Amino acid sequence: MALPASTNILIVGCGPAGLACAVTLAAKGHKDITIVDARPGGRTLSRAIVIHAQTIEALDTVGVAEKINARGVKAKRMVVRWQQTRLIKANFATLSERTRFPWALLISQSDTEDILEERLNELGVHVHRPYKATEMESVQGGLLVKFESGETIKARYVVGADGNRSTIRALAGIPFRDPKSGKNPHAEVVKPTDTVKKLEKKLGKELVVADVHLSGHIPPTVNPTDLGVFLSPLQFLLLVPLPPAKDDPEQRPIYRMSCPVEPGSKEVTLTYLQKVLNSALGLPDEKTPIVDTLRWASLFRVKSAVADRFHQRMGDGMVALCGDAGHVHSPAGGQGMNLGIRDAIQLGRNLSDILKRDNDPNTTPSASKAYADKKLEQYTAERRKLAVGVIKITKFMTWATGLEAPPAQRARNAFYWTIGRGSVVSKKFTLRLSGLQAAEHENVPVVA
Ligand SMILES: Cc1cc2nc3c(=O)[nH]c(=O)nc-3n(C[C@H](O)[C@H](O)[C@H](O)COP(=O)(O)OP(=O)(O)OC[C@H]3O[C@@H](n4cnc5c(N)ncnc54)[C@H](O)[C@@H]3O)c2cc1C
Repeated sequence: MALPASTNILIVGCGPAGLACAVTLAAKGHKDITIVDARPGGRTLSRAIVIHAQTIEALDTVGVAEKINARGVKAKRMVVRWQQTRLIKANFATLSERTRFPWALLISQSDTEDILEERLNELGVHVHRPYKATEMESVQGGLLVKFESGETIKARYVVGADGNRSTIRALAGIPFRDPKSGKNPHAEVVKPTDTVKKLEKKLGKELVVADVHLSGHIPPTVNPTDLGVFLSPLQFLLLVPLPPAKDDPEQRPIYRMSCPVEPGSKEVTLTYLQKVLNSALGLPDEKTPIVDTLRWASLFRVKSAVADRFHQRMGDGMVALCGDAGHVHSPAGGQGMNLGIRDAIQLGRNLSDILKRDNDPNTTPSASKAYADKKLEQYTAERRKLAVGVIKITKFMTWATGLEAPPAQRARNAFYWTIGRGSVVSKKFTLRLSGLQAAEHENVPVVA
C-alpha cells in the first residue's frame, strides 16, 4: 500500500502498542492516521501470554474485549509453589468487585495482535508494510520521517511504538536507562572474556521461553486454569496453559514453559525441558507429564529500562512513545505488554483531544501547541511513574524467583508461605498483578 505524503499522526510499529494506539484513534473517528511496520507481514514468535483485568477493561473501551475473551483461556489463579506445596496465590475471582473481567486471560501475543489489527481494519485503517523508519527531521508544520525505501512522510505527531530498541526514541534524543543504575542495557559493551555472571550483570539474566505439548499423566497442580510458578532446587519454572493453535487439527493444549537456560548451552532441547519439569514438580516419573513436542523456543535476556521522557517536542512536531519503546522489564508477572497496551490507549485518547484542539477554528496555533505540550507532559508523568513501579516489582519478583542458594530459597519459601496464608496480602498481590490498582492514574473506566 502506497504511503500518503502527509498525515496527522504517524504510528511507527504495529506490535500490540502501535495497534492499540491506532485502534483508539480510529475508534474516536480520526482516519487521517498512518501506521507502518518494518516487517513485511506475519507475526514475531509469541512472547506475551497474559492479559490482565485492567488491560481487558481498557481494550473494552475500543471494542475488542469480547473477541479477546472468547479466544483466550480465563485463568482463575496464579499459584506459586515449591514443587507440590502451595506458597502464595493470586485469586483473580476476588477482583469481581472492581471489574467485569475477574480473570487473567491466557492468549498468545500473536492472537492479541491479530484481533487488534482486525478491529483496525474494520475501522477503515490498514497497516503499511514494510516501511522501516530510519531518519526524522523537524520541518515546518511537523516532522519528516524517512524510510529505508527512500520514501518520506510528513506528520504533525509521530508515535514511537517500535519496541525496546526504538529508532524513533533514539532519533528524538530521549535517553533510555535503568532507573537504578542509570545505564542503557543496549549500550553495554560485551567482551569475549566476559564470564556468564559478568554477561548477566551487563545484559540481564538469560531465560528460556518454549511452547510445548504435554502428554501422559497431568497432575492436579498443572491445572488448565492456573498460571503456575513452580520453584524448585533447579530454580524455577513458569508453566502456563494456552489455547490450542488455530491451525492444529488435534486442538491440543499448548503449555508455555519459561525457566533459566541450561548452563553452558545455547540450545533448548526436549531433554532439558523435561529435566526442568521433573525438578519443578518433584513427582515420581510415572506422575510427571512428558514434554513430547517442542513447538518453538527462544532465549532472551531480562532487561530493565525506562525512557527519561515519553514525549519530545521537536519544533512544530511532537514525538510520543508507548509500549516497549518507553519501558522494558522482566516478564515476571506478565506486565510488559499489558502496560504497553494501556499506555497506547491512553496516548490515543490524549492525541485525539489534541487533534480536536488543533482543528478548533477558535484556537491559535500557539495555544494549541501549549495544549499539546501540557497533555503530553501529563501523559509522561503518569506513564513513567507506572513504568518505574513495574520495573521495581518485576525486579524483585525476578530476584526472589531466581535465588539459587538453598538457605536463601528456604528463607524465601518461608516468607511466601507465611504471607500467602493471609487473605489481605493475597488480595493486594492479585490487585497489583491485575493492574486495577493503577486505574486511578490511567483514567480508564472501571466498573465500580
Ligand atoms: C520472552 C518474553 C515473554 C514475555 N511475556 C510477557 C507476558 O506474559 N505478558 C506481558 O504483558 N508482556 C510480556 N512480554 C513483553 C511483551 O512481549 C512486550 O512488552 C510487547 O511485545 C511490547 O509491544 P510493543 O508493541 O511495544 O513492541 P513490539 O511488540 O516489539 O513491536 C514493535 C514493532 O515495531 C516494529 N519496528 C521496530 N523498529 C521499526 C522501525 N524502525 N520502523 C518501523 N517499524 C519498526 C517491529 O517490527 C514490531 O512490529 C514478554 C517479552 C518476552 C521477550
